[in-house]
Amino acid sequence: MPNLALETHQLRKVYSGAPQAAVEALDLSVPEGAVFGFLGPNGAGKTTTIGMLLGNVRPTSGSATVLGKPIGDRNTRRSIGYLPEKFQFHEFLTGTEFLDLHGRLYGLDAATRKARIPEALERVGLGEKAKTPLKAFSKGMQQRAGLAQAVLHKPRLVILDEPTSALDPLGRRIVRELIVSLKEEGTTVVLNSHLLSEVETTCDFVAIIRRGRVVKQGTLAELTAQPASVVIELEGI
Ligand code: ATP
Repeated sequence: MPNLALETHQLRKVYSGAPQAAVEALDLSVPEGAVFGFLGPNGAGKTTTIGMLLGNVRPTSGSATVLGKPIGDRNTRRSIGYLPEKFQFHEFLTGTEFLDLHGRLYGLDAATRKARIPEALERVGLGEKAKTPLKAFSKGMQQRAGLAQAVLHKPRLVILDEPTSALDPLGRRIVRELIVSLKEEGTTVVLNSHLLSEVETTCDFVAIIRRGRVVKQGTLAELTAQPASVVIELEGI
């Protein structure tokens, strides 16, 4: 049995005052080193699930482990890279200063930050933007800067919440290539998306979530080899 990067048991979240659960009876298991696609329409419960895995959203019931530790473990948090769906940018910082700030938050020493920052900017196609303030970045460039901070500290697990929402085809290709290279390095990747085309090119495993419930989970080949209803379900996303 491979080690599991993520495992959830009957994870559930009901926001206070909500008529129904945002996430219901979630059982996921993602092996270490896999690229996992969490696929579902807007409001399906993907971001809530990520919030619970990161320890930012308290589950109503159920349990989960992330990199072998219960959710919310402080040391584990440093082994995770995270690109939120909506990133807060400090617009007056340059590309380098922005990554330097994140490097400090992740506990990287000065020499490591100096070596890794240009590398991370290159990785997302922003090598030329080291000295440019973020306020002069396009939305897509800002999203790529967000990706650079998510990989800067070489985390074991990278969680990307809708990473290509602001990106043009070049930006989407950069994200695809980044995911492939993370996988080659043995990093586990969780990719939240509502685009089947995005997960089918990069993911080893996929879970489809609708109204808080996982309706299918497996390799994309397994899911698409199933009866037409499953394919329709996939294509309907
Ligand atoms: P999207 O792609 O639109 O972000 P999602 O699949 O990530 O969708 P969630 O953001 O997890 O879905 O939302 C799941 C449900 O929980 C939705 O009905 C949403 O309105 C609700 N919800 C999310 N956050 C909160 C909150 N803080 N308080 C109350 N309800 C919330």
